[in-house]
Amino acid sequence: MATLTDRLEYVIGVKAADALAEHFGIVTVDDLLRHYPRKYSKGSTAFGDGDAPPDEGEHITLIATVAKVRSNRARKTGKEFLVVTLDNGVTATFFHPRYLKGGLVEGARVMMSGEVGFFRGTMQLTHPAFLLLDTGKGTASLKKMVAATSDGGGGGEVDLALFDRDFFPIYQATAKLQSWDIYACVRQVLAVLDPVPEPLPEDILRQRNLMSEDDALRAVHLSENADERDRALDRLRFDEAVGLQWALVGRRYGELSETGPPALPREDGLRAALLNRLPFELTNGQNDVLSVISTELTASRPMNRMLQGEVGSGKTVVALLAMLQVVDAGYQCAMLAPTEVLADQHARSIRDVLGPLAMAGQLGGSDDATRVALLTGSMSAAQKRAVRDEIASGAAGIVIGTHALLQDAVEFHQLGMVVVDEQHRFGVEQRDQLRAKAKGGITPHLLVMTATPIPRTVALTVYGDLETSTLRELPRGRQPIATSVIFAGQQEKWMDRAWARIREEVAAGRQAYVVAARIDDDEKKPVQRMDRDPRDGPPRKATAVVDLYNQLRTGELAGLRLGLMHGRLPPEEKDTVMSAFRDGDIDVLVCTTVIEVGVDVPNATVMLVMDADWFGISQLHQLRGRIGRGEHPSLCLLVTGLARGSRAGERLQAVASTLDGFELADLDLAERREGDVLGRNQSGRSYGLRLLSLGQDREVIEAARTFCEQVYHRDPDHPGLALLAAPFTEGERVEYLDKS
Ligand code: ADP
Ligand code: MG
Repeated sequence: MATLTDRLEYVIGVKAADALAEHFGIVTVDDLLRHYPRKYSKGSTAFGDGDAPPDEGEHITLIATVAKVRSNRARKTGKEFLVVTLDNGVTATFFHPRYLKGGLVEGARVMMSGEVGFFRGTMQLTHPAFLLLDTGKGTASLKKMVAATSDGGGGGEVDLALFDRDFFPIYQATAKLQSWDIYACVRQVLAVLDPVPEPLPEDILRQRNLMSEDDALRAVHLSENADERDRALDRLRFDEAVGLQWALVGRRYGELSETGPPALPREDGLRAALLNRLPFELTNGQNDVLSVISTELTASRPMNRMLQGEVGSGKTVVALLAMLQVVDAGYQCAMLAPTEVLADQHARSIRDVLGPLAMAGQLGGSDDATRVALLTGSMSAAQKRAVRDEIASGAAGIVIGTHALLQDAVEFHQLGMVVVDEQHRFGVEQRDQLRAKAKGGITPHLLVMTATPIPRTVALTVYGDLETSTLRELPRGRQPIATSVIFAGQQEKWMDRAWARIREEVAAGRQAYVVAARIDDDEKKPVQRMDRDPRDGPPRKATAVVDLYNQLRTGELAGLRLGLMHGRLPPEEKDTVMSAFRDGDIDVLVCTTVIEVGVDVPNATVMLVMDADWFGISQLHQLRGRIGRGEHPSLCLLVTGLARGSRAGERLQAVASTLDGFELADLDLAERREGDVLGRNQSGRSYGLRLLSLGQDREVIEAARTFCEQVYHRDPDHPGLALLAAPFTEGERVEYLDKS
């Protein structure tokens, strides 16, 4: 008899076990039983109703009846080939058909498996492997047959008795390990499996009316009753949500959280001094978030908090006040920014706001002032050394930098808080790496900031180890942004009008961004978005920023002061261009998305995005956040060569229709495939989530979170939950993947 933790070779033999391990990383009985069917096939339905058609190149398995068999000869070589048309419209072509003719006859029922191709709108399989389920002649006396493989050779032996039913699970498979091979292994394992122990407590099963684990693991593979399968899937989906939440709850309350640096607010400190000299009043939202943060910083358990808020909602000043509370308690703070431009801008604006409070040891500095240090990769070795000294000695209370901060050479005197700006650019490992620089066994407080509004389910899963706060209102006096989509192919006049608008704004003293999706032809970027929808027509090359700059300079925007900015410029040049734009010496910045995150030029009021269909929803929303930051109304123009009715066209219109980042984030989530949102673990398998959908299973995820919180407080070592969490605690951790 077998249990879930048994290794498969003892149950199904070394050969089959090796194949499963090699192709799917499946090693134990548990691994195999959690390789859930992708779908269930009944009769001759190849694709369930409403299923998305497979992509070109995808490996699929289908069951159908042969409708027609035709023998052809290749025109050039005269070689014979066989075209088999199935009753679901799919055709299969075989190039060495001699030995097949006997089996593949009209009326035969087959399971076929191979890579999908499309030819004139017809789905085709070339040389698929197949299994004859019923010869169609009433002579299904074969008990065993050899599954044909695509090279015409013999595959493994398959016991046809297993297929003597009118319903089959269909598994994700490969050419070397077909769905029916996996099915046969599953059958073998289930036949000898001991009753599976129940990992969940009895009360939650009753409360959610869940099937037992034992029943669910069997029914999901073998039940011929659709309702029962659905209940099994519900149960296993809940398992998955609980496993993930248990892993996260462990991270929220576990080891990492034991000792933080308590920082009591001081009446006479820098934080109080800054509050006195701020040129504006904090919004209610800012005050609320600050009081939560302030309380958490006071505790000896480290804070783990994410602050989300639209671009311009004033997160930075909140982070700064939090950092000052920690500095007032004698600790240092580190702020990690994704790009040099941003790190530089943060250092500049934080020094500005602090004024004399950041001028320790300098003329005009106040008595209890601190210093703000900036460390980036492009500094000279001597500069870096000087900054590192300031950090190691503790002279710098606030340290701002890029990835350069993570290097071993950077040592802190007494690190007490880590702020990560634009979290989605960093993985969990990176924030942990920085936090590990604290001394004396303390874990610094952590505040991560993101301007990308994060859907609730993503916040609960991908960022589930963090508590979240949200700034919803923008500081007073902001002007709205109007957004229009320009379908350039259909409305050429509109393009002229767009350039004219930019000229008008510049004439009125404003500035503009023109954004392109690519740098130049050398760039190693695909010529199309990875997730292109075939309905959007053939791929086109996006305009390169360098070409666009040259074109506009002598053409549409001749006479204006243009600047060029992209990621491959040398750092000094980036600096020069950015400061010229900031100082108003450049009217129009022609750029790539390097300007995406956090850049703050309130005088910029127009943005024109070329090839806007290249960008994802969230990315466009981010980009748009560069304008509308000052007192003037702003305009965002999204240009696309695609048609209004294309999927990309609809996406752009959605962006144009709302400024609500959360609404757009949900739309974005619905568009993404799960794999884009969640990372992959080391074996390359998608990170543990098989059944749970972040787009659809919000209730399940929330219930699992509440449940795990409750159990954790009474039994943090619950063995059943630890088992469910295991797939989420090994290997690399989830991270939010940037789509660009
Ligand atoms: P975020 O980092 O959230 O994008 P910032 O912190 O950069 O936003 O704030 C954008 C601008 O708004 C900055 O110039 C900042 O000084 C200003 N600001 C922040 N809070 C307020 C407020 N309460 N009232 C007025 N202006 C504010
Ligand atoms: Mg910011």
